[in-house]
Amino acid sequence: MSNQPSTSDWPGERSQDWPVTRAEAQRMIEALRAEIAHHNELYYQQHAPIIADYDYDQLVRRLQALEAAFPELITPDSPTQRVGGSPGGGFKSVPHRIRMLSLDNVYAPEELREWEARCRRVYDGPFDYVAELKIDGLSLALRYTDGVLTEAVTRGDGTTGDLVTDNARTIRQLPQRLAAPLGSDIEVRGEVYLPLSAFRQLNAALEAEGEKTFVNPRNAAAGTMKLLDAHVVAGRGLAMFCYELFVNGVKPFETHWESLTWLRQAAFPVNPHARRCATLDEVLAYCAEMESQRATRDYDTDGVVVKVNPIRVQQELGETAKAPRWAVAYKFAPMRVRTRLRGVTWQVGRLGTLTPVAELEPVFVAGTTVARASLHNEDQIQRLDVRLGDQVIVEKSGDIIPQVVGVVTEARTGAEAPIVVPTLCPGCPDRQVRLVRAEGEVAWRCPEPHCPTKLRQALQHFAARTAMDIEGLGEVVIDKLVREGLVTDCADLYTLTAEQVAALERLGDKSAQNLMAQIARSKTAGLERLLFALGIPDVGRRKAQLLAHHFGSLAALAGASEEALTAVRDIGTTTARRIREWFADDRHRHLIARLEAAGVVTRLETSGSQTAARLAGKQFVLTGTLPTLTRNAATALIEAAGGRVTGTVSKKTNYVVVGDNPGSKLAKAQALGVPVLDEAGLLALLNGRGTPAMPPASL
Ligand SMILES: [Zn+2]
Repeated sequence: MSNQPSTSDWPGERSQDWPVTRAEAQRMIEALRAEIAHHNELYYQQHAPIIADYDYDQLVRRLQALEAAFPELITPDSPTQRVGGSPGGGFKSVPHRIRMLSLDNVYAPEELREWEARCRRVYDGPFDYVAELKIDGLSLALRYTDGVLTEAVTRGDGTTGDLVTDNARTIRQLPQRLAAPLGSDIEVRGEVYLPLSAFRQLNAALEAEGEKTFVNPRNAAAGTMKLLDAHVVAGRGLAMFCYELFVNGVKPFETHWESLTWLRQAAFPVNPHARRCATLDEVLAYCAEMESQRATRDYDTDGVVVKVNPIRVQQELGETAKAPRWAVAYKFAPMRVRTRLRGVTWQVGRLGTLTPVAELEPVFVAGTTVARASLHNEDQIQRLDVRLGDQVIVEKSGDIIPQVVGVVTEARTGAEAPIVVPTLCPGCPDRQVRLVRAEGEVAWRCPEPHCPTKLRQALQHFAARTAMDIEGLGEVVIDKLVREGLVTDCADLYTLTAEQVAALERLGDKSAQNLMAQIARSKTAGLERLLFALGIPDVGRRKAQLLAHHFGSLAALAGASEEALTAVRDIGTTTARRIREWFADDRHRHLIARLEAAGVVTRLETSGSQTAARLAGKQFVLTGTLPTLTRNAATALIEAAGGRVTGTVSKKTNYVVVGDNPGSKLAKAQALGVPVLDEAGLLALLNGRGTPAMPPASL
């Protein structure tokens, strides 16, 4: 990770010499994008990240550096061109009136000084700073109309977020009504989090109910914000710290500090540790102080946000496409602890990938006991030169799976033993299956199509609540079905007989009947769930949804070319190739034929009226003020007709709807030749009269 280039100016803006050819860069960029997209999916859609934030940031930085060196390779769908995740399903998406940017990160005092130097190059007058704790939660924008809380929107992708007003109202510290509003339209931004005490309580309760627990407070807060039942949300005890204020679209005071002061006086929760700093040395002292007190607080922090205090200077500095230049996040070092490596377990995943897991002497770190940690792959084991019995350094950076990051070689006694990578698949106990490692791959894989461990994992994924949702088909039952040879792939589930299931060891009549009913019920789970359940590489829930709506049937998707696949929003070339490869496999074709024969629904069920189909898949961008419709009303109408409203005009945009005082989006639409509608044109389209788009020249 240390050999990534140091960008000489604002990240992503400046090109530099780069010792790779364009073709190599293209390949590296594609690989990085695919990897980042995969982690985004895990993080934002499944709320189950598998790498530390730090490592994720390093991936993004590497991509930024490559793209800076080869700007012609930047595509609009590159993760560097977006601020965060795409909004999740279940809530209405609404556009942010003022974009919610993310922050650039720095990891060391020198990098913070470099940031200051960059600021000074743009603005050389005097200014001071405000330093605030960076709360590890999720950003939320609150809107107060005439002093009343009317809207709460998650950050989403920075342009569009989820409308979660009911859930936000459950945050008790928030005023529902302002005593003395500064204007008719007030936007307050802050970070929603779950206090550590509430997090522990929640996980204990989930565990008692046999439910899946959350890996960390941030995921718990994000998962809670996405619940559709505000009563459940209220019971979880979310909290918030506010840090930004807009009145009628602009910052109302001369300094950021005055905004914080007003927020406090208006009864908003503002973190008590925010501090004004005259110099960068004071900022650095603050960072050190806050980091040392980190473990004493009832909420997770992952750094300090440093902001230029005078708003006038903030405006001088401006922002990049992704982040403001006048603020930066100083990230705390991950928390590390030393313990002994007792053993290594080799796990086989549903795609056959072998992953080494470190079995540790249990140790307490950052609020949880750690007994296992990731070793990633064989290369990592060699890089670290880690051996069984070693004293190892384990890192936990506010998230999920702790990692072994180093070895205390001085502590060796000579009794340590090398870690041996198995040559045979540990998941195929009855057969001798040699593991394979494809050229350029880091992981070993079990190539055996009938690997029972792969199969068990694939079946668990198929039956999961977020997939086909087959209640009662858990680990134990799956084990029995596989061991008895009754199920060799997921299509076999649908040919099981009641007698076969009832004959399974210790499965009562009642459970057998329930299981049969659940399996039968899952046939109508629908195309979206089926596509996710099949476990096609790269196809998570979100992509499954997109593919289902784009192609409408499993058969259409199976026959789609790579070009047809990349035409779908968010599907890149790597994913398209993987999807093609999956469907080209004879076994998968056979599997699909048997699922269809069993009566599993493989087409998108078209629900609702004909209108729903009318604008299906069409993308709209709204700009300017429409004569009668508010932006929310227009969005709702378009969505009700099956369309989608996005924030930026691209080649994939079908229509741009223009009102009074349109912004740069109109010019962009004209440049790209995207059809432009006025409100009347939109209404005609919604009513099925299909008016032709206004030619751009007539505006
Ligand atoms: Zn195997």
